[in-house]
Amino acid sequence: MKPEEIFDLVVVGGGMGGLAAAALAQSRGLRTALLEAHTKLGGCAGFFARGPFTFDAGATALMGLGPGEPVGDLLRMLGVDFHATRTSSYRVHLPDRTLDIVADSTAFEAASATAFPGAIRAQRTFWRLQATVGEVLLRAAGRVPRFPPRDLADLAYDLRILGVSGLLAASTSALTVRDVLHLLGLGHDVTFRALIAMLLQDTAQAGPETVPFAQAAACLQAYRRGMSRPGGGMRSLAEGIGGRFAALGGDLRTGTLVDRVTPTSDGHFAVETRHRHRLIARRVAFNLPLDLAAALLGRDLDGLLRRRETRSRAVWSAFTGYLAVDRRAVPDDTPLFHQVLQDYQQPFHDGNNVLVSLSPPDDPGYGPPDARVITMSTHTPPGDWSGLDPSAYSARKADYRGRLLGALARALPDALGHVIHAEFASPRSFARYTRRSRGAVGGPPVSRWNSGPFAVGSDVLGPGLWVVGDSVFPGQGTMATVLSAIRLVERITGASWDEMRRALPHREGFPSSGLPPCRVAKTSENVKLSCCRLAIQPDKA
Ligand SMILES: Cc1cc2nc3c(=O)[nH]c(=O)nc-3n(C[C@H](O)[C@H](O)[C@H](O)COP(=O)(O)OP(=O)(O)OC[C@H]3O[C@@H](n4cnc5c(N)ncnc54)[C@H](O)[C@@H]3O)c2cc1C
Repeated sequence: MKPEEIFDLVVVGGGMGGLAAAALAQSRGLRTALLEAHTKLGGCAGFFARGPFTFDAGATALMGLGPGEPVGDLLRMLGVDFHATRTSSYRVHLPDRTLDIVADSTAFEAASATAFPGAIRAQRTFWRLQATVGEVLLRAAGRVPRFPPRDLADLAYDLRILGVSGLLAASTSALTVRDVLHLLGLGHDVTFRALIAMLLQDTAQAGPETVPFAQAAACLQAYRRGMSRPGGGMRSLAEGIGGRFAALGGDLRTGTLVDRVTPTSDGHFAVETRHRHRLIARRVAFNLPLDLAAALLGRDLDGLLRRRETRSRAVWSAFTGYLAVDRRAVPDDTPLFHQVLQDYQQPFHDGNNVLVSLSPPDDPGYGPPDARVITMSTHTPPGDWSGLDPSAYSARKADYRGRLLGALARALPDALGHVIHAEFASPRSFARYTRRSRGAVGGPPVSRWNSGPFAVGSDVLGPGLWVVGDSVFPGQGTMATVLSAIRLVERITGASWDEMRRALPHREGFPSSGLPPCRVAKTSENVKLSCCRLAIQPDKA
């Protein structure tokens, strides 16, 4: 009888964290299998097709694609053929005004002063402090901090990459955003505070009252650096990484639900699937929230594990809309992201705060050239959607559909009259497609006690077992899950991210790998690496 193959690593779940971990591990010479329950890859950053259209199901906004940034460097390292369109601005629609967030700081401060004509000096101080703190911390994040530190060597590394400026920036986490707004005299400015609150809801899953200033500054800096939409949609990213994983020799299995993971008598793990396949692995990485990982291991969530699960648990789900509209109803040069607040007095979720993401014009990956594809989303508590009878569920869905379409009418007034396709999804859909409990997605609300050195580490389940994705450091979002994957492979292989990046084609700061040098063309809005097949192009503005 043929002896059973022993994998160095089996990854359970093909969301962005699992994909990045599997592909990077395989590229570092570990024999790796990736098992994804769904027929499609990507999880919360996945996609689905409807007739001629392809919709991004959850995540739409990408960051960290530039040279020296984690997602961009990972894609270049794997040789993924990928391009992205950077939005000309991120347009925020408040009930009585709009603001375009642009990368140029002078232009942004001027736009902010025009949109919020009161207390201009205090606002400028807020934005400058935010940009300084946010930039330092995002740059440190790109060097993959070893949080939570396990020993003095990790601590020394973290202190080195943070440096004095990083430590000063991190020390602002002693204050919440609300504290800083009050100190600057902006605490009672309803409109300015609403702007900050709506942006933080989408990136930190919480508001100015609880999010520490340091973490908020980094979240807000992501908007200011500029966000991109993937060319060909999230599909190209998920299938691009999955395809490279398979091409590197990885064992990629979609439609493969893992039912159980048990230790074997010889110190390995048996990974059993719903269809009675069994894989033997030296290590298993769960691209899952801790409650699902513990269930596969047959473990109770108690004691320390329970406390860590609570700290890393997502509390929000999403109500989402997927529309295709006639291209003529949407100006080609409108920003690719619009975030709409309907009412200053209502909470920043449940249809009052909606993100509208547009496909770039002329991108065949989303649909035919005469249409634009739109994904809309708003936060909603998952509990509000459970236990409803069919008619109550339909009524709630119709109500939220109306709220999303109301937001669309504010962002893109002509689009509503030119809808070709529309469908909507609730937390029940997210529960079904991602398998997350009650459809709770998007990671935990950021607080002082679950971020930075206090975040949950990837080794929380014990020897040989790992967690990757938005439940562990550094948290939610596609860039964060890629960072968690890099950290995981660092820990398994002992090679640092800097060492792994040395395999990258030559660019400033990287030694040459023998490949032809990249021609780097860079303007404030445009980064192109012509040899690496990764290009970020500006949206036509
Ligand atoms: C509506 C919405 C909008 C968002 N917008 C953005 C955005 O614009 N930008 C951004 O950066 N982030 C955004 N996010 C957050 C981001 O999508 C997530 O943080 C990230 O994609 C999570 O990835 P993950 O790898 O941790 O987990 P997941 O994406 O949840 O992947 C886990 C995978 O495991 C699979 N799985 C589950 N159980 C099993 C099993 N037993 N066996 C095998 N496979 C299994 C699931 O099918 C899934 O594919 C958004 C999220 C949502 C929900």
